Amino acid sequence: MEFEHKRQIIAILGGILLLLIVYAIYLILSPRIKLKGDAVTEVEVFKKYKEKGVYASYGDTNLGGIVKVSGKVNDKKIGKYKLEYRVNYHGITRKVVRTILVKDKTKPKITLKGDEEVTVCPNTTYQEEGYIAVDNYDGDLTEKVKVTNSDKTIIYSVKDSSGNESVLMRTLNEDTKGPKITLKGYKNMTIYLNQNYNEPGYEVFDNCDNDIKTKVKITGTVNTKKEGIYKITYQATDSLGNVSEVTRTVKVLKKPIENDSKVIYLTFDDGPSRSVTPKLLDVLKEENVKVTFFVINHSKELDYLIKREDSEGHTVGLHSYTHNYKKVYSSVDSYFNDLYAIQDKVYKIINKKPTIIRFPGGASNTISRRYSKGIMTLLDKEVNNKGFTYFDWNISSGDASGGRLSANKIYDNVITNLKYKRNIVLLHDFENNTGIIEGIREIIKYGKSHGYTFEAIDKNTLEYHHKINN
Ligand code: ZN
Repeated sequence: MEFEHKRQIIAILGGILLLLIVYAIYLILSPRIKLKGDAVTEVEVFKKYKEKGVYASYGDTNLGGIVKVSGKVNDKKIGKYKLEYRVNYHGITRKVVRTILVKDKTKPKITLKGDEEVTVCPNTTYQEEGYIAVDNYDGDLTEKVKVTNSDKTIIYSVKDSSGNESVLMRTLNEDTKGPKITLKGYKNMTIYLNQNYNEPGYEVFDNCDNDIKTKVKITGTVNTKKEGIYKITYQATDSLGNVSEVTRTVKVLKKPIENDSKVIYLTFDDGPSRSVTPKLLDVLKEENVKVTFFVINHSKELDYLIKREDSEGHTVGLHSYTHNYKKVYSSVDSYFNDLYAIQDKVYKIINKKPTIIRFPGGASNTISRRYSKGIMTLLDKEVNNKGFTYFDWNISSGDASGGRLSANKIYDNVITNLKYKRNIVLLHDFENNTGIIEGIREIIKYGKSHGYTFEAIDKNTLEYHHKINN
């Protein structure tokens, strides 16, 4: 009996030992496998899932090549995916598992129709202009948008199926804008003593107030019997008390003494130039005649010519900085950028800011249509509003129409057209236009002996404008 018992114990111990030996052999023979990267990985939906793989080896032997992967990740669909990696070596299979969570963490996008800040007129309520909400995963969520109204704001919020929330706000403002007053006619006007001042009127518009028209107050008067600068103020107040004000300036000037003398205004565009301007100035000095120069940008060593023009009693007017039609006439802003550039340049030379100008191509030019429709119509008013006065011409010397003209030809072109009381002659002192030097001397001689006086344009000269074609 005792013997039997011993045998049983030995058999059990032997069995255990055998199991241990088998397990040790299993451990010795089995390959190793380990995940690269995390066992649980999150991926944003629609972003490509990047597989990191596993390390698989037996001793020094890399078993990466025989790893089998099962399972699939659909990175276009939210969900929990499992990938199983197996390696079989010495008939022993080992495996590891990776969990991939495809998630949507992107918020939906709400877009408002209309502005994020709107004005609400008194006694009205804001009429919702609409909105749309789109989610990268759920698509159109417009129907799910929650709209919360308060006095000053509207809050739009929406959640996508993964709980990502977007919130957008529209602000409702009281009307704080004054009415918009637009003057008819010129903002800066000039009339002569004893001429009538006819109020040109205005237009007024208010965003909330329809019958604002009746509420414009005009103050100020023009005494046409007395020289001076008069201000007419137009003031409008809307029903919320927002005020706006515009002022018109009316200059009353003494009319130049009318006599039988006829005037010639010689005007020179596109200078100064090295080859023409100095000699031209010499002739003018010898003849004691004052003229007007409409200057453009030039190199620094010609600055002294601008100084000479000014100090010898001529008028330095502005033409253009670049004289590049495409640039100058591309917009009202670029016109003024160009004009202020040449004004600034001249200011630095003679310490005066000229306000007498000539448009490149004249006010009647049609070339500006190519770059901006209607720009000359706008500029005609805007230059005046900004304190400039512009001058066109009624006699062209023809000296810019291709090829350089001889002194004789220029002389002929000008004197055969002297038929006005005020003759404004277009000439150019640009480089190599040397025909004008002697041409001008002859024109001056002719003028003086035929009852003409020569004058430079100044701020009291009555403006002369072409008809606008654009
Ligand atoms: Zn020009």
